Amino acid sequence: MPDALWLSPAQLDAIIEHARTHKPLEACGILAGDGDGRVRQVFLMDNAERSPTLYMMDSREQFRVFDEIDREGLELVAIFHSHPHSPAVPSPRDCELAFYPDALYLIVSLMDEQPDCHAYRIVDNQVEEADIVVTDGDDQS
Ligand SMILES: [Zn+2]
Repeated sequence: MPDALWLSPAQLDAIIEHARTHKPLEACGILAGDGDGRVRQVFLMDNAERSPTLYMMDSREQFRVFDEIDREGLELVAIFHSHPHSPAVPSPRDCELAFYPDALYLIVSLMDEQPDCHAYRIVDNQVEEADIVVTDGDDQS
């Protein structure tokens, strides 16, 4: 199980931009990849809750995205959401709703001028921080 999230600078920019666009509401999305932790595709999604403190993926959109991930032969790598006004730390509800033990949870905090991103693995309410590697290269050594 890869315990790092590998993203290109452009992918990270797209995620942060999506978060900024939705501020003051939380934004969310899905990152898909090859199963080695390297993100290949970023899905920017709606927050069905339309809330500044909660997110919930729209179930139909989520279904469509998972279907596309399947068809592309990709895997779910991470689920991301933003914290417009708080640090990039999972809330109790984030832990409660972390249904994918194989996925990483990326949180983008927009609390400060400079966005702050952290990734976590959340299994049975146990939170463990994972690395975020921002690179255009494929070299993972
Ligand atoms: Zn959260």
